[in-house]
Amino acid sequence: MQKEINNNPLLNNWILPPFDKIKSEDFLPAIQFAVSRAKQEIDAIVANPEEPTFENTIVALDKNGMLYSDICNIFYNLLEAESNEELQEIAEKLIPIEVEFSNYIFLNDALFQKIKHVYQKRDSLNLAEDALTLLTDNYKSFCRNGANLNANDRKRYEKLVEELSKKSLQFKNNLLSATTAFEMYFPENEKDQLKGLPENELALAHAKALEKSHDNGWSFDLSMPSYSAFIKYVENRDLRKKIYFAYNSRAFGGNFDNSQTIFDILHLRKELAQLLGYQTYSDYVLEERMVKSSKEVFDFLHQLINIFKPVSQEEVKMLTEFAHENHFEGELQAWDWSFYANKYQLAHFQYDEQEVKPYFQLENVQKGIFSLAEQLYGIHIKENSKIPVYQNDVKAYEIFENEEKIGTLYMDFFPRNSKRNGAWMTSFKDQGFDADGNKILPIVSLVFNFTPATADMPSLLTFNEVSTFLHEFGHGLHGLLSKVRYNSLSGTSVVRDFVELPSQIMEHWATETEFLQTFAFHYQNHEPIKADLIEKIKLHDNFLSGYYNMRQFTFGLLDMQMHSQKTDWEGNLEAIEEKITQITQVLPHVKGTCISTAFSHLFGGGYASGYYGYKWAEMLADDAFAEFSDKGIFSKETAKRFRENILSQGGNVDAMELYIRFKGKKPTIDALLKRYLGEKYYLCNFVK
Ligand SMILES: [Zn+2]
Repeated sequence: MQKEINNNPLLNNWILPPFDKIKSEDFLPAIQFAVSRAKQEIDAIVANPEEPTFENTIVALDKNGMLYSDICNIFYNLLEAESNEELQEIAEKLIPIEVEFSNYIFLNDALFQKIKHVYQKRDSLNLAEDALTLLTDNYKSFCRNGANLNANDRKRYEKLVEELSKKSLQFKNNLLSATTAFEMYFPENEKDQLKGLPENELALAHAKALEKSHDNGWSFDLSMPSYSAFIKYVENRDLRKKIYFAYNSRAFGGNFDNSQTIFDILHLRKELAQLLGYQTYSDYVLEERMVKSSKEVFDFLHQLINIFKPVSQEEVKMLTEFAHENHFEGELQAWDWSFYANKYQLAHFQYDEQEVKPYFQLENVQKGIFSLAEQLYGIHIKENSKIPVYQNDVKAYEIFENEEKIGTLYMDFFPRNSKRNGAWMTSFKDQGFDADGNKILPIVSLVFNFTPATADMPSLLTFNEVSTFLHEFGHGLHGLLSKVRYNSLSGTSVVRDFVELPSQIMEHWATETEFLQTFAFHYQNHEPIKADLIEKIKLHDNFLSGYYNMRQFTFGLLDMQMHSQKTDWEGNLEAIEEKITQITQVLPHVKGTCISTAFSHLFGGGYASGYYGYKWAEMLADDAFAEFSDKGIFSKETAKRFRENILSQGGNVDAMELYIRFKGKKPTIDALLKRYLGEKYYLCNFVK
């Protein structure tokens, strides 16, 4: 054991993760060691004979378990971005260790009494606002984690947390297995089936076929670039229906059914909330949000649903008429939507994503985004190829301000079998201070699944991928520009319905001509992107926004209804969903499909009662970006205000208060409606 510890690269006081030295077998002993050290630190806080103070209790706790969380950060990022069976097995073993450690803190009565002592004296302590937030957060999170429960209830609480963690892993594993089990393969003599697919999509499908050990032909699966291209371009309606059905019935029935897992999770969450004294799981969650109650969320969603519903119905009518003009008969179904939407655009504003992609060569987009951040925030981003990475495709960068290094950034762009779908920001270390008061620089990682380069084409991004890049980069800035005193308030450690503001605001630059013209050059002839193409992107970006908004509201409502019921859910999951989403249903329901069984945000992650937060943050981002629109999109003054009040502040103060400090007042839905529905609609309907 001692030898495992001494030679363990994870325990070697690393500044940057030693990816060149780490082996899978290092994780378990390192984490066990780090947990025992963290426990000793807790014991020392508890054993301190002096009167509990803010410094000896709350600040000491803020520095607790830093080694442990650093190692876990590495582990979980690899589990998501560069996974293998070994890591998956370790993840199973970590669950009880983590739960036990969390309980060691949160169910430690002696520790809680010390925190309570400080908390009760808070008014006499003259604490600065960030210190008061830290104290309140600590006290509340102990209560929310069962510190006020009697011994029996505490046992039950521990059990519930453990079961929930297992169920959530089971949900994710089922979903992954169901997703990877599906393949649609076309040998060379069946090429006519793929009529409609552009050449570059065929090339990707061909590369996928080879990857899947076929000698030739084209392969499609349920991973994102593959599925979305198929559903959008392939003319064969039956095949579109087939892949649509497969995608939308993932983990619903069959070998990897998640239905019961969902009922179990909902039951466990409800029981946990009620054990802690809340009526529903939503009440428990929303207590700590920018929005404070279920009612506020339902009001927000219904207000928007009422405005967007007629818009979405008009869109269905319009697209149906268009399809009828193009020899389609009957009612549009879900698998027709992307197909006719694309055709409509080609017919009416000649927009084709393929026309835009050549201007978005990945390397150029990256340069553009980096220099945007450099311009707004006065930082400098520089690649450092000497920094070890966990996979050859990954690149590492250092962030400087006034010649001083302020952080490190990893970028991981392309899909791999070992990587999950989607795009995300994560960190290996958060900005803060160690127990000796030394600065800790943030280490952020951005992970994507962008269309990769092929033998004769560089990586060309779709407009959505450019937006995604900006989005995750915004999260990255939130982590990198953090400047807080307390580690647990650092960077993105803010309430959930606020955390998407820094990311979503960045997406606004994606349609700004002045910005696009700094980097969007055609990869072959180097011509800059033309203004009319940017106009088309904007039109496209807003095209069918009624429909797409209603989809978001569907997810938000489903989430809120499922988590705000006081009694257990039972019966047929599909029927339950249909009932809840009736009000937001735009196209006919497809029998045998289900949203929840693949809804990772809710059941495989931590977004329960929080999905509305995307739309909420969008509203915030629109409201905030209006400041940049007014003062100029490269306005250093506005950027400075945004950085000082939002990006650098982490969770120092209540999110609404931070927002008001930036904007001068509370946000409204006006800018959001104006963006989606246009000046005319906006003026007619909303300005009285
Ligand atoms: Zn995000």
